[in-house]
Amino acid sequence: MTSPGQEPSLFSRIAAREIPATIVAETDRIIAFEDIAPQAPVHVVITTRTQQYRNVVELAAEDPGLLAELVAVAAGIAAERSNGQFRLVFNTGQAAGQTVFHVHAHLLAQPGPGSPVGDDSLGEGSLAFR
Ligand code: 5GP
Repeated sequence: MTSPGQEPSLFSRIAAREIPATIVAETDRIIAFEDIAPQAPVHVVITTRTQQYRNVVELAAEDPGLLAELVAVAAGIAAERSNGQFRLVFNTGQAAGQTVFHVHAHLLAQPGPGSPVGDDSLGEGSLAFR
């Protein structure tokens, strides 16, 4: 969802199916898809359909209900794809590693029981501060 005259962000283009991605969950206001460069065995990007909020601080201030919905979608994906334990990372600002200025969370988790992949802890990927 864009404002008049605004260029669609990368994530708006994924939501519009202009750029292919493996979509794992959708609601009226949220979309989640696998990260193209995963930093953990389960790495899902969860974003808002609107690109009106550049980061989680703006989203929390202006639409806390939508932030709560994003977190609920993350928890649902973690329950399905992992053991329900996860990290939720919101890079906020370029110096913190944010590259797409359309609010999104990174869900990082180990796969659920029975999966051949992974051990029982999350390693330090590029989403970690050094
Ligand atoms: P940020 O660095 O802004 O916190 O996160 C942006 C994320 O988008 C990165 O983890 C990056 O791998 C992911 N990404 C960038 N381009 C694409 C793409 O075309 N498709 C998908 N699925 N993820 C992308």
